[in-house]
Amino acid sequence: MTVKKLYILSVGSCELDQSAVNRNLPPGKLVNMPVWSFLLETDDGPILIDTGMPDSFVNNPDYYKGTKREGRLVPHMLESDTMVNVLKRVGYRTDDIKAVISSHLHLDHAGGNGHFRNTPIIIQRAEFDTAMNNEDYSPIECRLPDLQYQIIDGDYDLVPGVKILSTPGHSPGHQSVIVTTEKSGPVLLTLDGAYTKHNFENNLPFLSFDPEMAAKSIGHLKELIQEIHPKVIFFGHDNNQASKGRTFPDFL
Ligand SMILES: [Zn+2]
Repeated sequence: MTVKKLYILSVGSCELDQSAVNRNLPPGKLVNMPVWSFLLETDDGPILIDTGMPDSFVNNPDYYKGTKREGRLVPHMLESDTMVNVLKRVGYRTDDIKAVISSHLHLDHAGGNGHFRNTPIIIQRAEFDTAMNNEDYSPIECRLPDLQYQIIDGDYDLVPGVKILSTPGHSPGHQSVIVTTEKSGPVLLTLDGAYTKHNFENNLPFLSFDPEMAAKSIGHLKELIQEIHPKVIFFGHDNNQASKGRTFPDFL
């Protein structure tokens, strides 16, 4: 059984210090990175992977001014990039979503989780335990304590065609997803298991909670690729990939 459609949804962008994308570069220059969310149309209903940045970032590139992130992180989000508006364009309301897979609880992946108060939010235990009550996980919208979290440990088959893979390193409980679609077969969404193709293929270190663990997770994904031969591998924040299209209204 496969997933009917996988939509890649653009949900804004953020500028990040280049040293976060490539640890071999010196800090001091910002690079722009696309931010994504993914909608899966399955036999069990629509499933969302990641919820983008919080609504408090809308037209607010100065959000981190005066904090330790000033000059290192600049969010770019329009009203049209909020999760509610993005879903509306695809034809859904937030209440329609059957489950949210949170790859991890960073600001550019879990900012819209609060829009899904009645929806299971699937998260690794290590991520949940690290993020709650931890102010490094800014803003607060990414670590709301009272959502319907469904905590998992390790790899997990969510529904036919949707397999969650534990890929810790970038964050303590990061997870990637393999989606097998009618049109494309297996598609690997690394999420922030690798920011870019360059990080992935050349083992180029990027911003990670535990770089060694991140490299090990990339190794596991590479082994898996040898087994399942995905037709598409989509990385967390790769500009080249973003320019090649295949985003909504196109689908995989
Ligand atoms: Zn990210």
